[in-house]
Amino acid sequence: MIGLLITLCQGVLWADINVSFKNTRKTVLLPETKLDGVEYVRVEHFNSTFNSITKEERADQRLHLYIEGRQFVFLIGSPFYSSTDFSWSMHHPLKRVKDQFYLPSVFVTEHLPLHFKQMEYKNKTLFLPTPKDNSVKVIVLDPGHGGKDPGAVGKGRLQEKVVNLNVCLHLKRMLEEELGVKVVMTRNDDRFVALRDRTKLANDQKADLFLSVHANAAKARSAAGIETYYLSTAQTSDARAVEALENGVVEKYEGGEAEIAKYDALNFILSDLCQTEYLENSNNMALLIQQSMVSGTQAIDRGVKQANFYVLRGAFMPAVLIEVGFLSNPREEELLGNAQYQERLARTIFEGVKRFKFRYDRIRNI
Ligand SMILES: [Zn+2]
Repeated sequence: MIGLLITLCQGVLWADINVSFKNTRKTVLLPETKLDGVEYVRVEHFNSTFNSITKEERADQRLHLYIEGRQFVFLIGSPFYSSTDFSWSMHHPLKRVKDQFYLPSVFVTEHLPLHFKQMEYKNKTLFLPTPKDNSVKVIVLDPGHGGKDPGAVGKGRLQEKVVNLNVCLHLKRMLEEELGVKVVMTRNDDRFVALRDRTKLANDQKADLFLSVHANAAKARSAAGIETYYLSTAQTSDARAVEALENGVVEKYEGGEAEIAKYDALNFILSDLCQTEYLENSNNMALLIQQSMVSGTQAIDRGVKQANFYVLRGAFMPAVLIEVGFLSNPREEELLGNAQYQERLARTIFEGVKRFKFRYDRIRNI
């Protein structure tokens, strides 16, 4: 009888976890629910309290949780989860009831303080440091080519370097005025900048995102459309052709074979590091930009691709390379030379970056 009373009382009176932010002294209530006699918190409530994100992998019954820049992988219906190569047990399973996921409360009260040293749990209250702002604040825009290197040149003599710069100048204004971020350009005018100096600038500026803007060329004049790349060594033959074209700068303008060898030796190490850390986010940013550009311009969708661009290697941040259209295609050359179309391209890239920033900020801020 006493046992029953205590259970009832807990269910009605104390069945919540207080989450308190240390500096602001703001306290949020995280509601608990009893499932099979065990205290649970609804994942939806957990996410809104901690500003975390969950992604369900339906194929293999997993739930991925991203919090404070870390990933936890739960197996639905199992008490086990993994994080940073270790497995942990909550003793009670992660449950799905209808469309909702439920985490055993012990994950909040006992496991979070284990994983995050700055968290502390006492008296039914989880104390958190005031979150620091990890939002995207600095973006580096890289208008491809410049100076002695015109990039691709159309039949109508439109030069890629001009298109790239104009699109980036519009994009810079939009990002600064509408997102309040700082934008650093690898070049503001028609000058030559070596590829390695472009990513070096991004790293020196501690940039959060790196976007390189280019225009394409192909032997077939019919080739048309927009494509967005992120760094990888795996690729299709099409991607290899574009890669050869863009990397050709090193051979033509930066001193040839010896210089290529230097890039390869140095960047093999660097790119390996970058890939593991930023690959997924670079891929996400590429997807959102590509989607936005295609729907906003009605251009042909050539998709998101992976290639091994020198300019993306060594960038310690999510980085993409955008090919805004084909200068070798007479219709697209005309469009790319049009000031209004250049501004529209910038607008559609902006919308993609904005969407990505919104999601990425949520992942990086607790
Ligand atoms: Zn280019």
